[in-house]
Amino acid sequence: MRSRTTFIGTGVGRGSAVGPAVVVGGRPSPPADETVPADLDEVMGLLEGTLAVLADSFRTRAESMDGEIAEIFEATAMMAEDPTLRVRSRELIESGLGPATAIDRVTQQMADALSAAGGYLAERVTDLMSIRDRVIARLLNLPEPGIPILSAPSVILACDLAPADTALIDLNLVLGIATEQGGPTGHVAIIAGQYGIPCVIGAPGVTGIPSGSSTVVDAARGIVISDPSPEDVAAVTRRREAELRRAEDSGAGETADGHKVEVLANIGAERDVDRALATVHDGIGLFRTEFLYLDRRTAPGVDEQADRYRKVLRAYAGRKVVVRTLDAGADKPLAFASLATESNPALGVRGYRTSRVHPELLSDQLTALARAAEDCDTECWVMAPMVSTPQEAAEFAATARAHGLAKVGVMIEVPSAALQASRILEHVDFLSLGTNDLAQYTMAADRLSSELADLINPWQPAVLHLVATTVRAGLAAAKPVGVCGESASDPVMALVLSGLGVTSLSMSPAAAGAVRFALQHHSLAECRQIASVALEAASATEAYSSAVAEIDPEVRAELDIVS
Ligand code: PEP
Ligand code: MG
Repeated sequence: MRSRTTFIGTGVGRGSAVGPAVVVGGRPSPPADETVPADLDEVMGLLEGTLAVLADSFRTRAESMDGEIAEIFEATAMMAEDPTLRVRSRELIESGLGPATAIDRVTQQMADALSAAGGYLAERVTDLMSIRDRVIARLLNLPEPGIPILSAPSVILACDLAPADTALIDLNLVLGIATEQGGPTGHVAIIAGQYGIPCVIGAPGVTGIPSGSSTVVDAARGIVISDPSPEDVAAVTRRREAELRRAEDSGAGETADGHKVEVLANIGAERDVDRALATVHDGIGLFRTEFLYLDRRTAPGVDEQADRYRKVLRAYAGRKVVVRTLDAGADKPLAFASLATESNPALGVRGYRTSRVHPELLSDQLTALARAAEDCDTECWVMAPMVSTPQEAAEFAATARAHGLAKVGVMIEVPSAALQASRILEHVDFLSLGTNDLAQYTMAADRLSSELADLINPWQPAVLHLVATTVRAGLAAAKPVGVCGESASDPVMALVLSGLGVTSLSMSPAAAGAVRFALQHHSLAECRQIASVALEAASATEAYSSAVAEIDPEVRAELDIVS
């Protein structure tokens, strides 16, 4: 009999969930010594049957989705039915290869041809590879790779998930996610946070939990429990009920004494808007536009972009939407924007720097955005990611304004920009602190690394001081400074940031309830006090625990804040 086991990682957000585990397999390879089948008809029957089952399951998935994701699944189903796959595989099996090796070769040849054709066809390579992986896994009796096709609500356990994988998450059925790898502000964490899925990353051993066993994902404590006790399950249920109660309040963010701090939503695609509208009224503080194009090989055209931006802007008519220009590179590579060879992509041509080599990408995006904004009654703000100098800020502001966009800002994500915030503010209307990257670059610690989670931590004194410097510059210039990194979604940090003087906090919609609740229970003076003890601390752990010690005990209990 197996017993309750705890796995330690880093939590994303504060949610918790319990459900049966589904373990995601890695990419399978055909064995070097795969045996050649004796009965060709039998093996072809097996291969064709596998392809047909896959095509059906992709089609069923397409039917349960809508929009672009449904189209991707339908296109993948058609690929699985492509007779070329079967005919060429048969030829190779006849020539003496095993079925997994044959499908591997055929799909590779087809992928090479699609890549060479470029454009829309090249974009289908990922789908073809997903068919390859699934067929090989089924032929070899291995766990299904990639996000599996779920038939019941489940907790997903994986080594890591690719950005394109996470885009395929079925929100109705994924209760929680835990990965062995990945950093606290990497793409899995961000997408899980975005969808409000309780998530723990960097938890070694979780893929050893057998599929089907009951599993708790507890993001607030950063743990995963297999075979939880009845008390563990009752605690999850209690916390989920409290979360749902808080989510019902979608009012404005303000402190107990009425000081306004806008609580805004982070989104990555049009499909996130409905969820955002349900819990966040004030507006969108970060629209990560690169998430729209992660699986694209060619740049989207101006018309297509304008249509997509218009949908988001219209949904928040009369309010504010902060659109970030493409943030390509490093952890979010875009095939059409990233440089093929960089020895250190995180320090390379990424974010705003992409416009050095692809100025047309920026200009097309700004044209599309201005066109969309013109048709909507929404306050459209635009900002550039990864700006390092006042000169870059000035250049971006001039370009955006020349395209007809009135409210222009930049993100503060590198220490040089934080230290130069006053000068940067001479050129732009607002700043938005990207604390995920600011922590990464201040601490010289890769945000995707699970080993360095203690360093990639917004509570690190160096990061807090750079945040404080930036906010002071905003106060002096009387211009808004918001925070849109993951730190804004932590209710304790939200109090610190409000005490420092930020004007807005932007987060995954699921986090808004707890942040608003924390704000409503503290006055501005209390937030200032919490901020000042955090700033005086000598370490990240001390900063956090001294801030927690200042928090109203009732709020600590309600939000399950542990120091
Ligand atoms: C950040 O770096 O904090 C941020 C909000 O941008 P992203 O996470 O998309 O890099
Ligand atoms: Mg960033």
